Amino acid sequence: MVETEIECKTYEVHAMCECGGEFKLASDVVYDTYPPLYCYQCDKCKALQYFSQNYPYIKYVKAENEALSPFEPEVKQEILDGDKDEQ
Ligand SMILES: [Zn+2]
Repeated sequence: MVETEIECKTYEVHAMCECGGEFKLASDVVYDTYPPLYCYQCDKCKALQYFSQNYPYIKYVKAENEALSPFEPEVKQEILDGDKDEQ
């Protein structure tokens, strides 16, 4: 097994209301359902909604594939030219 490191971008995911407000945790009460539900209230229109996901939460997304490429095209070309000279 070999560990490898992949560059990721970090996002904070927020629950947004249709009115433009943001849902904030309304109470510490967790509903004993499956999955458990948390009560959120919009900070603008005061609408109540129940989510099984905690908000906000952190999400990791892989960075662009180009950033993972170990060689630049110029470097590859130099290696090919060197092989030709030796033959
Ligand atoms: Zn709202």
